[in-house]
Amino acid sequence: MMLRTVPMILLPALVACGVEQRQPSVLLISIDMLRADHLSCYGYERNTTPTIDALAAEGVRFARHISSAPWTLPAHAAMFSSLPDSVHGCVDGTDNALPEGIVTLAERFQTAGYGTGGFFAGPYLHPAFGLGQGFDEYRFCVPDLAASMDGQSVGEWAGDPAAHRRSHHGVTNPGVVDAASAWLQEHGQEPFFLFVHLWDAHFDFVPPNPFDARFSDPGYEGFVDGREFFFDQRINRTMEKKDLHQLVALYDGEIMWCDAHVKRMLDLLDDLDLADDTIVAVTSDHGTEFFDHGGKGHRRTLYGEAIDIPLVIRAPGQLPAGVVVEDLSRMVDLGPTLMELSGLPPSNRFVGVSLAPLAKGEGGAPRAALSELLADQNRMRSVISGSGKLVWNEVTGDTVWFDLDRDQEERNPQRDLSQGLGPELLRALQAELRTIQLVSEQHQYPHQPIELPPALDQAIRASGYGGGEK
Ligand SMILES: [Zn+2]
Repeated sequence: MMLRTVPMILLPALVACGVEQRQPSVLLISIDMLRADHLSCYGYERNTTPTIDALAAEGVRFARHISSAPWTLPAHAAMFSSLPDSVHGCVDGTDNALPEGIVTLAERFQTAGYGTGGFFAGPYLHPAFGLGQGFDEYRFCVPDLAASMDGQSVGEWAGDPAAHRRSHHGVTNPGVVDAASAWLQEHGQEPFFLFVHLWDAHFDFVPPNPFDARFSDPGYEGFVDGREFFFDQRINRTMEKKDLHQLVALYDGEIMWCDAHVKRMLDLLDDLDLADDTIVAVTSDHGTEFFDHGGKGHRRTLYGEAIDIPLVIRAPGQLPAGVVVEDLSRMVDLGPTLMELSGLPPSNRFVGVSLAPLAKGEGGAPRAALSELLADQNRMRSVISGSGKLVWNEVTGDTVWFDLDRDQEERNPQRDLSQGLGPELLRALQAELRTIQLVSEQHQYPHQPIELPPALDQAIRASGYGGGEK
């Protein structure tokens, strides 16, 4: 059956006329900590993601998709709210949950009459952080971990290293997909919005057989077994190459293990005869660092390995097949895109824009992508515009920019803001900061004014921002 967008309000009339028409449903899969450059369809040399590659061939792949943040909580909050991190405020993993007053993507679908289900395995998706808003059913699919968090406040849990350590252990994909599959079998005959969060690509790296051996050197005899990535001091920037290779091979095995669970969900759509009526989006929340710039993990920098994420959307009958969008796209654009493809009216509370026109070759690319790191002792913001990227560290006062055309790996920071791409990037940063302020004031979201240091403020003015201001 061809899929067309029909405003929900028209459906009863169509049904009354005997026209067979189904509202498109949505399956949104977030694979935690999946850096874009480790998917085969994004050019990786290993065949890590055959299912997602095939999905991209049937839909649209966004080649420059940028997260709002380099870690789980704020990135998913931006995914669900279509608001920049500084506006939704769910940025540091303490007691500041996503405010009730913010209308989420799931709430939009729920209000439109969809059944809404969310199934997750990472602790920062916990409803205590406000991300369960709008889901009829929202389930933590790691029962032991869920039980251990129930007795603690978010503040206590977030400050407990043992809890963090526990949350990274084990294999969780089957539990998530089993629960999501059962829900889909029960609710799939009515329009649905189903969110599936796969946590296994996130460290630790212990993919089950045969995925553990898929990319490893069979003769490897070192200490790396994929466990304790974050806490094992031997995993550092000076580790031997063979050990680092083993670590990355296990990460890639986890990615393929996640891809196999994407396949389980897609196969179920086929089995239930829902594939033609379901928009499928596969994405991530952030990447991670394997000493690309000297460090490991994420939630510490805004380099590409931490914020460049995949996005693939298949929307039968609506979006073309096999298209690659090279323009910039952002985490906050995902919600508006899914809403438009589902025929839901746009929300003026969302900052993002629908990427559907861009996918159809009709233009409409966002001009800049803002990412923020506002957790722990960090206060960093980056803005990508055109081929440039500017990173402003509010704590150190350091502001640098990169020419990504010539320096894709961000090895050569430029410090002269008056040269090259500097002025354009400063204007882009200022525009993003102004958007944060306007959106916060318009909808009375709590937000703290962002104070530019005098030197940066002066540089922005010198760049000509504001149409001739000094
Ligand atoms: Zn994450």
